[in-house]
Amino acid sequence: MAHRELLARHRSVMPNWLALYYEQPIEIASAHGRRVTDREGRTYLDFFAGILTNAIGYDVAEISDAIRSQLDTGVLHSSTLYLIKSQVELAEKIAQLSGIPDAKVFFTNSGTEANETALMLATQYRRSEQVLALRNSYHGRAFATVAITGIRGWSASALSPIKVSWVHGGYRYRSPFRELSDADYIKACVADLREVIETTTAGDVACMIVEPIQGVGGFTTPPDGLFGEFKKVLDEYGILLVSDEVQTGWGRTGEHFWGIQAHDVVPDAITFAKGLGNGLAIGGVVARANLTDCLRANSISTFGGNPLATTGALAALNYLLEHDLQANAGRLGSRLLDGLRAVAAAQPVVGDVRGKGLMIALELVGPDGEPNPAAAVALLEETRDRGLLVGKGGLYGNVIRLAPPMTLTQAEAEEALEILTQSIEAVAKEGQ
Ligand code: PLP
Repeated sequence: MAHRELLARHRSVMPNWLALYYEQPIEIASAHGRRVTDREGRTYLDFFAGILTNAIGYDVAEISDAIRSQLDTGVLHSSTLYLIKSQVELAEKIAQLSGIPDAKVFFTNSGTEANETALMLATQYRRSEQVLALRNSYHGRAFATVAITGIRGWSASALSPIKVSWVHGGYRYRSPFRELSDADYIKACVADLREVIETTTAGDVACMIVEPIQGVGGFTTPPDGLFGEFKKVLDEYGILLVSDEVQTGWGRTGEHFWGIQAHDVVPDAITFAKGLGNGLAIGGVVARANLTDCLRANSISTFGGNPLATTGALAALNYLLEHDLQANAGRLGSRLLDGLRAVAAAQPVVGDVRGKGLMIALELVGPDGEPNPAAAVALLEETRDRGLLVGKGGLYGNVIRLAPPMTLTQAEAEEALEILTQSIEAVAKEGQ
């Protein structure tokens, strides 16, 4: 009853577009490891890690203790006008991990603000309001970021304070170049990039922003090397490359610490958020010093880089590095991909299995390969009934996304695989 009443109050006080998952939404009451427990006492294996936010998992002693010791100082927030040791240490670590020479870091509270900052820096630096983005992208929900988002359901380009052109490359499964080999796909996308620059801009473009694997867009996974080839074209025009690593950072893709590294290129700026705080609100941008320092006006974020968030994030980042969670993501991600590909081979409702590391998607399709969002909703409910939480997404809402905490164990991976297999079979049967 209390649960139903809370749901009614949520619906009356929150905007309509703030949709909840599940016909009977969940209220999480406690969490530990990779599992969350709802108010009714049901426990679920969380295969979406919050929203890729709990990269390490829940109730991790090393992180909780660090946060608690910061709370014990009495300093929840001290103005960013003063020195904050954890902020400086975290910035140093991220600058070093970025691989960007002479890098500086600016902290924000979210991925949206991180991308807004990167766009502000690039447009100021290049004295141009023209930006290139990938079709099917998601970069956030403030004025500039919502304008460059290339997914109809999340976009509002009429509000754009900047000029945007969109390029092929991200969403291969439904692209006109889908049937091509990796090498030819890259060539076709590079030709498209060049044509977009030549035909829709005056050439004075500020930057191109890419998600190495599109997150909200359905974990679309372009062939390795694509963005390195893009960079060669961008360099001809002096266009900066921004890698939005809000979902792909911190080793989640298994092979590399940043998703963009699979493309053999160092971007001019990296934006980050989500997993860094392991649930605390923190984001930021790391970029070459001549880019960060190009702003003449003052700029500040009141809460960005506050002591509580940077203390927690530093503990989370240290944990992630000390336990080599990137390697774990690679190993268990391969196991999950293999297992799911075997299931998909027997179930035509799964049109595509893709991803890297612990970022794996199932694209659900109808008999003619058309997007099947109803099957995605059904799979969400089926997995929940069996004790597994997963994510949904994709341009057509027909993609199931799997992104568990990177501390996942082999036994938990097998448990999820079993639940997914049973759930896919149930959805396939329902659809017959
Ligand atoms: N960029 C990417 C790739 C994202 O996936 C998201 C959020 O899902 C954002 C930016 C926006 O981040 P936030 O919701 O923290 O503002």
